[in-house]
Amino acid sequence: MDYNKYLNKTIVNVKPSGIRRFFDIVNEMDDVISLSIGEPDFRTPWHVRKAGIDSLESGKTWYTPNRGFKKLCQEISGFVSRKYSLDYNPDSEILVTVGGSEALDVAIRCMVNPGDEVLVHQPSFVCYEPLTEMSGAVPVIINTKEENQFRLMPEELEASITDKSKLLILSYPNNPTGAIMRKEDLEALSEVIIRHDLLVISDEIYSELTYSGKHVSIATLPGMRERTVVINGFSKAFAMTGWRLGYAMGPEEIIGMMTKLHQFCIMSAPTVAQYAAIEALSNGDKDIEHMRSEYDMRRRLVVGSFNRLGLTCFEPNGAFYCFPCIKSTGLTSEEFCTRLLRSKGVAIVPGDAFGQCGEGFVRVSYSYSLSHLKEALKRIEEFINEL
Ligand code: PMP
Repeated sequence: MDYNKYLNKTIVNVKPSGIRRFFDIVNEMDDVISLSIGEPDFRTPWHVRKAGIDSLESGKTWYTPNRGFKKLCQEISGFVSRKYSLDYNPDSEILVTVGGSEALDVAIRCMVNPGDEVLVHQPSFVCYEPLTEMSGAVPVIINTKEENQFRLMPEELEASITDKSKLLILSYPNNPTGAIMRKEDLEALSEVIIRHDLLVISDEIYSELTYSGKHVSIATLPGMRERTVVINGFSKAFAMTGWRLGYAMGPEEIIGMMTKLHQFCIMSAPTVAQYAAIEALSNGDKDIEHMRSEYDMRRRLVVGSFNRLGLTCFEPNGAFYCFPCIKSTGLTSEEFCTRLLRSKGVAIVPGDAFGQCGEGFVRVSYSYSLSHLKEALKRIEEFINEL
């Protein structure tokens, strides 16, 4: 059967993730030591797992309200108020979703019409461009630069705006670069956003993994709350990737539309995960602190090692990645990663998997134990010395 004849053309035409070819090789090999994953190596804290188990034991196996348990929305509202001075009404301005991933998809689909342009800065998380294409809108890529520590500069945003621009997807702390945006960076950006009347989706999933100063949400700046949907979730802050739980916060009108879409395509986020999340938000501050200080120690080790090897790496102040420059080796990102993998069995991700401007860089995740990191760094050093 010629399935192409029947399948949705927009989805058929979306490019598969650039990471796939590389991981096909990784999967064929034995004894690979990987610094490539994008999830916490920690287990979900026990008291959080226990809350999930208890909910199952007591038979709480039904759907929840479409937007999520009221108690969970209240806890989210309290958490983001306490941590980031964000102010959202739990009854109308918060939607609990299947990971930040669903929140992103639903937000994009509710905020654009076919032909609208969506501004996506890169290097960044791999889903923004395809989700935009699948929504019928047109992604417009903005290349951020190492010399600006991969922050999105106001003049770069301004230069990409046309009369079709509708929405900016802002993603800090950033995967894959580890870059963050300070308050003054966001202020300068918000001036351009407001002047051009853009909407914003701010993906702040790594907000709790900020190592210097406090995370600032763009939605707290004057004139920004009304035009911003903030995405966050439990995967990174609480080491809960497998529970599949995230949330979106924004003006009632947008969250209302998103809830309508969510109701038809998802119904409600997993019940067991919502019980666990209530526990995480009420009693999880110490867990976050513990994991953040562990990541911070690993971050210093890894960044210091790459700089010593001559693969320069600006200080990543967020998430759990560093993004060293490999241009001095004369290899492309893919050649570097493939040769490192084949000769030393170490897997890291070519920077261009996160956008063309990631060429010349590699993404290294430090979400691994110290002994694992040390072994991988030793092998990378051998590889560089043999080049
Ligand atoms: N945003 C970013 C920047 C990410 O890196 C990820 C996961 N790697 C997500 C969103 C999605 O996370 P989840 O669906 O697990 O909440």
